[in-house]
Amino acid sequence: MERENFDIFVSGGGLSGLVAACAFGRLGLSVLCVDPQPPVTTQGDPKADRRSTAFLQPAKATLERAGVWPRFAPYAAPLQIMRLADAGGEAGEIRYLADFDAGELSDQPFGWNLPNWLLRRELLAQIAQTDNITLRMGVKTGRITARAAHALVSLSDGTQVETPLVVAADGRNSPIREMLDIGVKTWRYGQKAIVFTVSHPRPHNNISTEIHRSGGPFTLVPLPDVKGVPQSAVVWMETGPKAAALMALDDAGFTAKANLRACDILGPLTVNSPRNIWPIISQKADRLTGPHTALIAEAAHVVPPIGAQGLNMSLGDVQVLVDLLESGHSAGSPEMLAAYERARMPDITARVSGVDMLNRAALAQSPDLKALRLKGLQLLNETTPLRRAAMRAGLGA
Ligand SMILES: Cc1cc2nc3c(=O)[nH]c(=O)nc-3n(C[C@H](O)[C@H](O)[C@H](O)COP(=O)(O)OP(=O)(O)OC[C@H]3O[C@@H](n4cnc5c(N)ncnc54)[C@H](O)[C@@H]3O)c2cc1C
Repeated sequence: MERENFDIFVSGGGLSGLVAACAFGRLGLSVLCVDPQPPVTTQGDPKADRRSTAFLQPAKATLERAGVWPRFAPYAAPLQIMRLADAGGEAGEIRYLADFDAGELSDQPFGWNLPNWLLRRELLAQIAQTDNITLRMGVKTGRITARAAHALVSLSDGTQVETPLVVAADGRNSPIREMLDIGVKTWRYGQKAIVFTVSHPRPHNNISTEIHRSGGPFTLVPLPDVKGVPQSAVVWMETGPKAAALMALDDAGFTAKANLRACDILGPLTVNSPRNIWPIISQKADRLTGPHTALIAEAAHVVPPIGAQGLNMSLGDVQVLVDLLESGHSAGSPEMLAAYERARMPDITARVSGVDMLNRAALAQSPDLKALRLKGLQLLNETTPLRRAAMRAGLGA
């Protein structure tokens, strides 16, 4: 059997795996990344990922160090203000509105938003220009055998890889996590997110707006204008049956419902993409490491799309691994993996619990809980130290 050597093997070429490959490649290490599914990199493809990612300040720093930010920057819409609105009543009128301005903390925006299909396109272009990163699409990770000095990874193309460090970026159902017998705790909410893009007559002014009602938030995230027309990405969270009913509507019926839910915040919305639907869960792995292996991203943690935490946490995982390698740890050594677990587990635990709590508050059905949600938002907005602490925590500080 053909056997190759790589400094790092990344299993999974989702956004996290691709960024990880770029970040490790930037250190001059030889990297192999495999994925059975070739990424979709064009907007018009029916299988395109319609989600967008709001990269918060720390994630941007990681992308800069990985050398990919200059590719993203021309397509990024800055997020200067996070607007949280509490809506209620049959007509869905806004009862309270709070603006959290990044200018209160620094001269930088909270984050920068980009479509996921475009991120994949740019990451592949970066990898194609980097000699020490090899990407094999249509190839699956099979059995992994840990030896003292390295791991032996069998691939579905019949080859074998010898590497001191396996990075499992193979998603929420991570086969590597299962192989290592690492358990997970999963929270289900009976909730789904519908994702699509819209154009609208009023400019978004770099404001990301989360409109909360029972069922979950309706979030409009700025995208760059197209031919002078303002655009936003929408994440609409609803209970499972309501989301299924919305997905079953024709375009006109769906647009009408979306406009009702958007409370006219940006003027009449025109839905201009197909809709994708995503199940919403929280999940946390019991451990982040096994012999010669580090779990990252959704293999390690999944959160509902509130406060743009998911992929941002994943880039936090990548950054810690990069820092450990840069500070002289030997790749995949027990010391490096223990340091990774120590550095990441407390932050992951706090964020998974925090986002779970926020999502439960957003789901609140009873009038008492809805009143509490509104009071909580008022308190947060009107108490300056609390407001600033919440903004810093959201940013990953
Ligand atoms: C509606 C929605 C909106 C979101 N918005 C934001 C946001 O604004 N900001 C943010 O930070 N996060 C956001 N997130 C979260 C973010 O999109 C995810 O965290 C991210 O896309 C997951 O990437 P991943 O690489 O971890 O996993 P995946 O994309 O699932 O990639 C895993 C890859 O592993 C591959 N794989 C599986 N098995 C194998 C195997 N045996 N061998 C090799 N490869 C394998 C799969 O084919 C897949 O390509 C959002 C999530 C949702 C649902």
